[in-house]
Amino acid sequence: MIQLTNVSFGYRRQKPVLQEINLEIKPGNIYGLLGKNGEGKTTLLNIMSGLLFPDKGECLVFNEMPEKRKAHFLQNIFLLPEEINLPDVTGQEYIKMFAPFYPTFSNEIFEACKESFDIDLTAPLRKMSLGQKKKAAIMLALSANTPLLLMDEPTNGLDIPSKSIFRKLLASHISEEQTVIISTHQVRDLESLIDSVIILDRKEILFNKPLDEISRKLDFRKVETEEASFYSEPSPSGTVGVVVNDTAEKSIVSLELLFNAATSSASRSKIKDIINH
Ligand code: ADP
Repeated sequence: MIQLTNVSFGYRRQKPVLQEINLEIKPGNIYGLLGKNGEGKTTLLNIMSGLLFPDKGECLVFNEMPEKRKAHFLQNIFLLPEEINLPDVTGQEYIKMFAPFYPTFSNEIFEACKESFDIDLTAPLRKMSLGQKKKAAIMLALSANTPLLLMDEPTNGLDIPSKSIFRKLLASHISEEQTVIISTHQVRDLESLIDSVIILDRKEILFNKPLDEISRKLDFRKVETEEASFYSEPSPSGTVGVVVNDTAEKSIVSLELLFNAATSSASRSKIKDIINH
């Protein structure tokens, strides 16, 4: 569905943000795109949606170049940006303006979102709080029901109850035919929501793997100090860490530990090797 081949991009010459990125996104999965602030997650999503063009390499989405931004391409993809610029209209008018553009728009999902988020759509969007604006934008993103949904830091600006509603809505209204990529630096927000993890770190994709596969290779648990763990950190219940899973059982992946281990200088290359081989 998405194929990036040797994609490099920089806002300024001599300062690449992404370097020789190779990435394949298969249909029907929910991907978590994890990376620290400023690693290039927004840049990558903007390239996929055709808002930025690679300096080198090729990005194909539905076998097309996104930068051509053809109408049928745009009808099949929804990008929820991190910073939302909403028009000066009410919530109702906003949905009415955009819904007709998406042939897949679902009134059923829209009604479910409206009920769960409980926001007043008769109010002008400009007067809404950041959280309310975000909810209105998420409502449109989910209701558009497009085959490809890209969400850039969707939980930023949401309070804890709204984050939980967002997770429930996503889990119950994304169909098996849809592909979703959710970027975040708040790794815990995606726990038990995604089925594949992509980690972007220091201009490269460290790995792009199903959680299922990671859970067979690595174990995430309490570790003794003398034990051979790749990575460990203190927690309220003792030291927790990442070790090789040498059992036949699948582990329960802790996204936070995986992310911390994969982006820490001492364990980065070991984790990358184990997961990719
Ligand atoms: P992330 O989404 O992971 O936080 P971004 O893709 O927003 O990362 O940014 C990646 C890098 O590119 C950062 O160093 C950021 O400062 C820089 N950057 C982002 N947008 C611009 C821009 N419009 N002009 C120049 N530099 C930018």
